[in-house]
This record gives sequence, structure tokens and C-alpha cells, in this order.
Amino acid sequence: MHEAFQIRDRIWQVQEARGVYFTVIQGDRRAIVMDTGHGIADNRGYVDQLLSVPYIVINSHGHPDHTQGNYQFEEVYIHPLDLPAYENSNTEARRAESYDRLRKENGLLEEGKEAFVKRTPAVILPLKGDEVYDLGGLTVRVTELPGHTKGTIGLLVEEERLLIAGDAFNPDMWMFVYNHDTLAILEKTLTRALGLPFDTYLGGHTIHEIRKEFLEEVRNNVRTGRVDWDSYEVILGQETYQIRYSGEHGTSQIAIPLETALELKEREESGFNTMLLHGVKERKVSDPHGSILPPIYQTSAYAHESAESIADVFAKKKTGFNYTRISNPTIAAFEERMTELERGIGSIACASGMAAITYALLNVLKAGDEFIASAGLYGGTINLFHGFAQFGIRVRYVEPNHWRELENAVNERTRLIFTETIGNPGLIVTDIRKTAEIAHAHRLPLVVDNTMASAYLVRPLELGADVVINSTSKYINGTGNSISGVVTDGGTFDWDAERFPQLEPFLAQGRNCYLAKLRGDMLCNHGGCLSPQNAFQNIVGMETMGLRMERECSNALALAEHLSKVPGIIVNYPGLEINESYETARKQLRNGYGTILTLRVGSRERAFALMDALKLPFVVSNIGDIRTLVVHPASTMALHSTEKEKEDAGVFEDLIRVSVGIEDIGDIIADFDRALHSMK
Ligand SMILES: *Cc1c(COP(=O)(O)O)cnc(C)c1O
Repeated sequence: MHEAFQIRDRIWQVQEARGVYFTVIQGDRRAIVMDTGHGIADNRGYVDQLLSVPYIVINSHGHPDHTQGNYQFEEVYIHPLDLPAYENSNTEARRAESYDRLRKENGLLEEGKEAFVKRTPAVILPLKGDEVYDLGGLTVRVTELPGHTKGTIGLLVEEERLLIAGDAFNPDMWMFVYNHDTLAILEKTLTRALGLPFDTYLGGHTIHEIRKEFLEEVRNNVRTGRVDWDSYEVILGQETYQIRYSGEHGTSQIAIPLETALELKEREESGFNTMLLHGVKERKVSDPHGSILPPIYQTSAYAHESAESIADVFAKKKTGFNYTRISNPTIAAFEERMTELERGIGSIACASGMAAITYALLNVLKAGDEFIASAGLYGGTINLFHGFAQFGIRVRYVEPNHWRELENAVNERTRLIFTETIGNPGLIVTDIRKTAEIAHAHRLPLVVDNTMASAYLVRPLELGADVVINSTSKYINGTGNSISGVVTDGGTFDWDAERFPQLEPFLAQGRNCYLAKLRGDMLCNHGGCLSPQNAFQNIVGMETMGLRMERECSNALALAEHLSKVPGIIVNYPGLEINESYETARKQLRNGYGTILTLRVGSRERAFALMDALKLPFVVSNIGDIRTLVVHPASTMALHSTEKEKEDAGVFEDLIRVSVGIEDIGDIIADFDRALHSMK
């Protein structure tokens, strides 16, 4: 169990939670958990308390003086966000003014930091990253948010609820959501990094409703002229907005039933294989006969007990099923498992990986738009993107991990960035985190095809990607018996109607808007749905995915190491230390380096001869099977690619791609040795 929960056994009570701090009491002891900087000057009410109780300061801003523990009280009001518009706003003036008032009332500044600390036995936490503090029996976990905002949150668990304080919850910070998607980042941190569910209540609204209202308020408050104490300016895009400040907006707490949090936390901490079998949430046996696998609902449509019932499902007044092209209980069970696997907010299963890529992109692209893709993609995807030209959608290719070229490729028509975690068959590992940073700096979503790595090796959504696609025909199914693909949304991208007008009718659904359109438009109207039977095959397959991947990755590494010692063969495998992707792979991939390696053997003739001499591998243009497969990409998948595309993809005439299976490694190596020997 996570240390942050140890406190459950103690009787801490949250006395109040207001603004950016909350008070905790245990018997006659009291502590305040607060965040510095932004809040300190604004929450006059608690200065008294600061002076009389031990308190915990959670540095929220990553300001250098704070993070180094070199706390300067005067600098509290320096705003940390790297948003130049904000620096120019009147906020600082406002803070200075409020600070002045505090100084007069409390005589704080004159006495300086030392006196301040002496008077209040403060614990000032120089925070970086993610840490757990035990402060006299009070365990606090503090997490620095990734991304642009340097906000920090403190988590404190008491009997019923898990509480979180921090700037991200200060309602007057929500304007940054518009630019930085603070809450989405926070949500990601909580749900993924900490494995906690996320639900925010504020005056009975969910955070996304508030966000909308707040933006409304931002838009309704466009004024020019004098800025007074109760308002400040912020520049969003080209426009300057006047924001009314109100400390009364609400509290900055998230309340999560602790039982739920703990249960989820425990599940979260169960390993990959346990998660695959038992789920992140509780996977109840709901079948009346106790079937341990979801039944195959092999039906095209669903009968309703009344005219009104079917009308209600169509009108989305109640949930239910109408037609399998749109949804089906077996497919839904598979989608749910994919969502758990990739840690998204939802998934949509399609007839194939290609259908998933097509829908994921056409969902948000229209004629006149451009997008950037990494060079060296899977051949089928390159062919697809060729075809996008006829819809007036243009792709620009940039080498993976070439940051300047990526920046330069962005223009006002760019709408998204697309990449693969591991290129196929070039095997270049994309630095997802860095790619996401660049995408987000340009307000672009990052869509990642994770087929080649699978969630066993990496979860792109955890590294900042917004949407992830899997050809589940590969490692998810694993045994080569069904074609299918899945789009999983991280719910993190802030889609706007201006650049993505086709999403407008769905924007009311908040962060579900992308998936709502994908199901309601792409899947429903283009019709590339998965069959219930194949969804079932995938569910069965994915339950053993961890075991298969473990074996396939270790076999691939052993084969790559072995063949790299054979003269006349050049082995490409990200797990070899000499490989150009080794560093990125080591940093980014868990559990292994993938199951694919390629061999250059000198000529196309030698490549064909070796493939024909091998007895054990099947000659198959597929990957991710439990059987070892070999293929000659230049004459198969890349047959329709241009010379430039082949070069970018690392497709050479003498190259063989090997997808390593679960056979006994001694047999695989012996077969390669024998085949190579026979060619001499
Ligand atoms: C196989 C593959 C696809 C296409 O998936 P299908 O299920 O065959 O349509 C897309 N991307 C990558 C990286 C693949 O390997």
C-alpha cells in the first residue's frame, strides 16, 4: 500500500478546507496544509493560523527559490508560470498590494524569513518531483505536476476522504486551463501516476462544467481599462481579458471516497498480469451463469420492451444498445480492457488497426488541414496517408526525434502530430515525452500508434500523448486469429471549435467529445466496427499478453545478441547497447525492448535464401504472433512506397524483419545458425 495512505489508521480530521489550504487536527495538534506563493498573499484569513500552529507548506510553484529550499517570503508573490502574458498582467501589482497589507497588519516582512519561521515551526518543503513526507506522523505526498504549470499538489488522506490542495484547484487559476490544461494534467497525474480515481466537486459541479462556466466568464469579462484589486488581466491568444477575482469561488479540495481510492490503489499496484486478468476496477462476474469471460453477444441488433425504451436509447436519455455497428456488450468489454491497459478515459474498437488510424485522424481533420507524421511509419499507414490527399488533407513527414525540424514543420494549418512508439521496420524509438511537449507548445494533439511496443513496454498516454492507437491484431490478440484495432483517448486535449469545427456538436460532452464523435460519426457512419466474435478472441488473447511479451522480448534480445556476433549480418534491435535508439529505449520502455529485430544480410538474394532456409519461422507479413515470423519488407509491405519512404522507414533490399515468438530460444537460435551455415 502506498505510504500516503498510512495515515488512514490515525484520526486526522479535516477541519476546514478553503482556498488553497486546509487545516488538519489530531487531538490537540493542528496543521495546515497549504500551498505557498499564489495563495499566501490572498488568503488573509489564515495568516493568524500560520502564526500559531505548526503547518506544512507545500511549495506549488517550482520557483527556484522555493525548490532549492531557499525560501524568501518577499518572493511569494512572484508568479512562476511561464506564461509571458501573465507576467505582464496586473496580478503582481495586486499581490504586492495585498502583501503590503499583510506586512502592515502582521509585521512579517520586517522580521524576515528567520523570524517568520521561528515564530511558526514551519516545515517548508523544497519540492521537486514526487515525494512522500512524514511530518511528525502526518504523511503527505506531494507531486509536482508535469507540463507547463509547475503546480504542486499535496495529498493528505484522512478518514473518509483524500484531500488535495494546490494551485490547480484555486479557481482563479482556472483560466490557465485554457492554455495549459492544468486540470487535465492533474487528472492524469492522479489517475495514472498515483493510480487514484479523479472526481472533483465544486458547488455540485464537475470540474469540466466549471471549466466551461469559467471560460464563459472569461469571455464575458472582456473589458479594457483600469484594473482594480478585484480583477486582473490575462492575455489569451491575441486577446486581453479582464478577469474578476473572487476568493469566494469555492474550496480547493477533491473528495474521493477513501474506500474507492484504496481499492483502486491496491488494484493499481497489482502487477501487469494481475491487472490484465482482474482489471483496474473490480471486474465483477455479472453473467447469470457465472461465466468468467464476457459472453459473445453475436447479435446485430437489440430488442426493447417498448417503443419508448428504444426512443430513449436513441435520444441518449438512457444507456443501452441498439445496433452492433455502434456498440455491443462484448465489444464494450474489450474496449474497457483496452482503456485499462492504456490508462485512457475510453476506447473504441474498430474492424482493423487501419480503420482505427483512419478514424482517429479523420475524426478531427478536414480538407485544408495538415498534420505532421514521423517519417518511417508502418507501410500501410504511409499508403493511407497518401490517400488522404484526395480529401485535401496533407501530411508532412519529419524524422522522429528531430526536434528543430518538427518545430519548423508546424504552421497555421497543422492540426495534429502522429507518430509510432517504435518505427516499423526501422525500429527507431520515438521520445514520446519530448514529442508531446512540442505538440502541446503548439496546442496540437499527439496521436501515437503504440502497436509495435504495446502497453507492456510503454503507455504513451502516461508520457503526454493525447490519443493512442493499437492494431490489436498484433500483441493484444497475440495468437494471430483476428484483425482489429482500437483508439484510446487520454481525454487530455483541449479541442476547440475554431480549429476543429467538426467537433463542435460534441464539445458539450467535455473531455469525452473526441470519443463521442468517433463513435457517433466515424464508427456509426463509416461502419468499420469490430465483430463481437473477434472482440472475444482479443479478450482471451490479452489475458496472457504479459507472459507472451515477457517471453518474446527476452527471446528477441537473446537472438539479437547472438546474431550480432555473426560476421556479415547487421542486426538492428533497440535492446543492443550499440543501437542508435538504445538510450531512448532504455529511458522510455519498461520490461524489455520489443519483439522485433531486423537483419541486413548483404543482398536481396541472400535475404530470400535465408528466409527459405529457415525451418522454424513462418514467412508471414505480420508481427506479434506467438510464432516466430519472418518477412522481406521491401518486396511486401513497402512494395508501394517510394524510394524516399523506404529509405525513411529503414527498408533495404537486403533486410529481413523477424518477429520473435515464444518458442524455446535454443531452437530459434539453432534454426538461424543452421540456415546461415547452409547458405555459405
Ligand atoms: C499492423 C499495423 C497496423 C495496421 O493494423 P491492422 O490491424 O493490420 O489493420 C498499423 N500500425 C502498425 C504499427 C502495425 O504494425
